[in-house]
Amino acid sequence: MTARIIDGKAIAKTIETEVAQAIARLGFAPGLVAVRVGNDPASEVYVRSKAKKARELGLRGDELILPDSTSEADLLAHIDRLNRDDAVDGILVQLPLPPQIDPKKVIDSIDPAKDVDGFHPINVGKLHLGRPTLAPCTPAGIIRLIESTGVTIAGCNAVVIGRSDIVGKPMAALLLQANATVTIAHSRTRDLAAAVGGADIVVAAVGRPLLVTREMVKPGAIVIDVGMNRLEAGDAGRIAHDEEKSRLLAKNGTVLVGDVDFCRVREVAGWITPVPGGVGPMTIAMLMRNTVTAAEWRR
Ligand code: NAD
Repeated sequence: MTARIIDGKAIAKTIETEVAQAIARLGFAPGLVAVRVGNDPASEVYVRSKAKKARELGLRGDELILPDSTSEADLLAHIDRLNRDDAVDGILVQLPLPPQIDPKKVIDSIDPAKDVDGFHPINVGKLHLGRPTLAPCTPAGIIRLIESTGVTIAGCNAVVIGRSDIVGKPMAALLLQANATVTIAHSRTRDLAAAVGGADIVVAAVGRPLLVTREMVKPGAIVIDVGMNRLEAGDAGRIAHDEEKSRLLAKNGTVLVGDVDFCRVREVAGWITPVPGGVGPMTIAMLMRNTVTAAEWRR
């Protein structure tokens, strides 16, 4: 048996169409501001592509770019201004921030009604209480990927590997809300193979290539690979079959792989997400979805 591929790109396109339709119904363009402090190359790419995607779908997408030397007080003043600007529906601050700025203070300062990343403690609290809220984009997108298989989440055993505030914890909360029996595995878990072996749904969000192996996975399971690990091309032989190498090789000669031994796990799993083209495209699509939801609720 070879696993069916869950096509994140195609499912993200469906969400983008829903977003464009919702904007047409709203009759105005919701505003998203992506804030970047400093010149981290990955953050530059993320912030630019988020604002660009927003504009493509009919939102107002703006970037606020601040120098690396920005003080915490200055950043908080900018956020205060955006909180009070009625034309702004969604604010996201790209992490990581320079060392002089405490990310917790920054997250806490964003108006929860405009917190489209879903990181504010009020939104995190609502998520855990099962109340309507702006849920973090990556796990919310993963729920859509799992739903696309047609498998009913209720009653499934699900294991989430990783317990970060951004992916692992909210993922577990959303799966619980969907009535799965949820296990969270993490760096101190004694027997990862035992935790994964009983799971109908596996979500790997660690940042370690080849962590999830074929031997661990229950035949027929849904395997969602959140990990994004950039390796030198020379390492490709270690992580992929020959036929995979060309697909994985990026223009700059590096390879992007997830946390799952894709080629071998796909021989036993029922469904699997590729890296790239699985979870990644969903994150940005759900950010757009959250911005429209924030606009609908606030105005
Ligand atoms: P993180 O570093 O904050 O958390 C990693 C988690 O993995 C920790 O909770 C830790 O306990 C756990 N862990 C570490 N070693 C482990 C082990 N041996 N066994 C089990 N658990 C272990 O990372 P994060 O922000 O949650 O991101 C995880 C991965 O997902 C990264 O590769 C990141 O790049 C990727 N990511 C992708 C997207 C996307 O849109 N595709 C979004 C966010 C994160």
